[in-house]
Amino acid sequence: MLITGAVLEEIGRPRPYSESRPITVGELDLDGPGSGEILVKIEAAGLCHSDLSVVDGNRRRPVPLLLGHEAAGIIVERGAGVDLRIGQRVVMTFLPRCGECAGCATDGRLPCERGTAANGAGELLGGTRRLQRNGEAVNHHLGVSAFATHAVVSRRSVVTVDDDVPPEVAAVLGCAVLTGGGAVINAAKPAPAQTIMVIGLGGVGMAALMVAVALGHPVIGVDAIAAKLERALELGASRVYSPAEASEAGVTAGIVIEAAGHPRAFELAVAATAPGGTTVTVGLPNPSATSTISPLTLVAEARTIVGSYLGSAVPERDIPLFVKLWREGRLPVEELVSSRIALADINAGMDALADGTAVRQIIRFE
Ligand SMILES: [Zn+2]
Ligand SMILES: [Zn+2]
Repeated sequence: MLITGAVLEEIGRPRPYSESRPITVGELDLDGPGSGEILVKIEAAGLCHSDLSVVDGNRRRPVPLLLGHEAAGIIVERGAGVDLRIGQRVVMTFLPRCGECAGCATDGRLPCERGTAANGAGELLGGTRRLQRNGEAVNHHLGVSAFATHAVVSRRSVVTVDDDVPPEVAAVLGCAVLTGGGAVINAAKPAPAQTIMVIGLGGVGMAALMVAVALGHPVIGVDAIAAKLERALELGASRVYSPAEASEAGVTAGIVIEAAGHPRAFELAVAATAPGGTTVTVGLPNPSATSTISPLTLVAEARTIVGSYLGSAVPERDIPLFVKLWREGRLPVEELVSSRIALADINAGMDALADGTAVRQIIRFE
């Protein structure tokens, strides 16, 4: 079938992207779903740093690549052996779990080995590509490629949600909430009412903050942008600081979650972790970035540092928990949405993401 989608043509073009236009929006051919795959009509998709990281070259992926990995939609066609019904709303998750490899046996601690390999190659979990343009294959992004009217994905790249979960909420559950919220519940494993500091209040960091608030923890928010600190207070943070203020004031917490993806933010997170406490790092800095920390402090203050990818989540286990918190009114996921944009404005949307001014921009497909 013919679809419209946003294809990254070249990595590393200069900013502003609204001028260099690394992403083009146009028509592509999408094959029908193969065995174990589904065709999804996309309803909503969020712009996430993991898309920007491919655009700016922090994460190398094969191009041309149809971007987008945080999304929700409706199943319109099923390949053989799929247990889901037509018309079912699904949340896309950006790392399929095959359910059979050593990584999949770690309860979310490690990513799926096959899923990781497929993501790196720009393929779906089954090793296939379903997208072409002018007869040439176009790569999938993180098994999803949701900045498009439709997507074919592996059954193992989706989690179902009930119809009462609106498309924008469902979309954001799949990456920002799963990653940020998972960092809290799976990686930090806080004691009841323990104070949690979150450094970096983009989509993932803000979601971590909201989940921590929903679970009754006092939360300290840290970000360089004043508007995000105001937003954090509105969403239930008890205190907020700029990174400089936090470091000057010597603010500490038993659990510190670093979601900025910058080596200086990681150093601040370690320094702000109280003795005996845990630093959780979920940000994805450039592969060449390095940080300096004191081994003696780790020993003398009995600290723990935990790396958490995708919120150390098992999406099928964790997304229903976040839906429950949302349904109870404790996790207002829609508050993460800072603006809605048209697919045609995707380059300008990447500029807003790079500026740090947007929490979550959502593309709606009608
Ligand atoms: Zn993401
Ligand atoms: Zn696996």
